[in-house]
Amino acid sequence: MEEIDLDLLEFLVYTDTDYIKQAVAGTQYLPRTVLGVGTFLLDHDGDVNLLTAKQKVTFEKFLQPLLFHVTCQGLAGPETCMGNGEIEQDLLKKCYHNNIFRCHACRAATHNTIEN
Ligand SMILES: [Zn+2]
Repeated sequence: MEEIDLDLLEFLVYTDTDYIKQAVAGTQYLPRTVLGVGTFLLDHDGDVNLLTAKQKVTFEKFLQPLLFHVTCQGLAGPETCMGNGEIEQDLLKKCYHNNIFRCHACRAATHNTIEN
């Protein structure tokens, strides 16, 4: 298991809960269930081993994708991504803050477009 970026988790659980709400929408889960698991992890240094089996399922279903496997939206949708389709870990916080979900390759590409 990769190490959880606690700053990022804190952002998703306390600062802007919309991402979790969106992830939960249309499922049988309640946002507060996922937020509860997130809060628990924040209180325990992100130690996933302390989760109950049920909490772990919730974590893997909703929080893990938001923390580790975020799809790059490319220049005009995921299929236009110029990287490997996923946003690099070091960019995630920036992406959530700005609501612009692009990997390094796509950011470099947009940067060049603006300069030209
Ligand atoms: Zn990309």
